[in-house]
Amino acid sequence: MVRENEIRRNEVAVTPPAPTDAGLVYIGRIETPWTSKLLAPRQGRPDGPICRIEIFEPWTPALDGIERFERLEVLYWLHLSRRDLVRQSPANDGSTHGTFALRSPVRPNPIGTSIATLVAREGSTLLVRGLDCLDGTPLIDLKPDRSLFKPIAPEQPGDLETQA
Ligand code: SAM
Repeated sequence: MVRENEIRRNEVAVTPPAPTDAGLVYIGRIETPWTSKLLAPRQGRPDGPICRIEIFEPWTPALDGIERFERLEVLYWLHLSRRDLVRQSPANDGSTHGTFALRSPVRPNPIGTSIATLVAREGSTLLVRGLDCLDGTPLIDLKPDRSLFKPIAPEQPGDLETQA
């Protein structure tokens, strides 16, 4: 069951330290059809709607070569999440699980990840399927899906295993 911002039966909140967001830079913005947490899918699907990832300047050159990858790992900042729950009840039935045993958006550092299918690139915008975030969610990183990625030039024995 998706939450707005309520505390559910048996859930445990703590007083977290003031967030500093570790100096993250938002490198883009994600446009999706979903304007409410209650309507967004729990996880993206390869057959989900096309969403747009707009990359801000000066980061556009960082997209060079991205078309070679059919799938991308998309990392985003779930900016409307509460960040103070250590035990959560996803089913809202009184049973709880530790936050780090869940993929809930409610976490101390609300990083979301999805494997998205790259449909097209239009300049500084990528069209993808497979996301589950709200319209306007900040983008924090893009990487080729690790199962498609091969290091370009391994420098040391073992790099092939460790850089994947
Ligand atoms: N796929 C990501 C992951 O596993 O890391 C996120 C999964 S999380 C369960 C997806 C849910 O987060 C959505 O259904 C929606 O309720 C909520 N959500 C999406 N975008 C959000 C945002 N920008 N801020 C807060 N919550 C968001």
